Amino acid sequence: MKTLTKNEKEILLKSIRTIENFPKPGIGFKDITTLLGDAKAYALLMNHLKDRYENENIDYIAGIESRGFIFGASLATMLGVRFVPIRKPGKLPYTTISEKYSLEYGVDEVEIHIDAFKCEKENPNVLLIDDLIATGGTAKAAVTLINKAGANCKEVCFVINLKFLNGDKEIQKIVPVYSVLEID
Ligand code: AMP
Repeated sequence: MKTLTKNEKEILLKSIRTIENFPKPGIGFKDITTLLGDAKAYALLMNHLKDRYENENIDYIAGIESRGFIFGASLATMLGVRFVPIRKPGKLPYTTISEKYSLEYGVDEVEIHIDAFKCEKENPNVLLIDDLIATGGTAKAAVTLINKAGANCKEVCFVINLKFLNGDKEIQKIVPVYSVLEID
């Protein structure tokens, strides 16, 4: 599968802005709105993801609320596959399956429609996408949900991996992880 050149990675990294101390002191928030606002960088990213996944027998793309929807839904139309949203509690209107995960303080939860992967294929292949992996808690819960809903999570893809938090190591124990950009 294809990876980006050093120069292409630089273009993408430069298009992402860091906002210090947002949403709370000590966090360097990776703002991808500047990437979305740079048509060339956005196209470079999406064409790269299309190249990487077009011959991988992906049946569905699942995106994590909310920035995972932007990249996931764009890629789904480029690949001609279906898109499934994984959402915060209480947002999906039909019967759901949910999965709790730990935060630094407290717990959070993600949900999916029970019939999200109901199709002609048994155990369809799913690519899970989010904008960023930090501790990996959200993505791990999402992988669990996909598998519980009767599909096979084939790979998890992040635009940005905050490598120093080691979140990818936990997820790699259960499913392959691909990060377009790694930040040390
Ligand atoms: P985690 O479960 O710790 O891997 O957190 C991942 C989720 O939180 C993703 O949906 C990210 O969009 C968001 N997130 C966590 N840390 C950051 C950060 N430094 N900058 C931007 N988004 C973040």
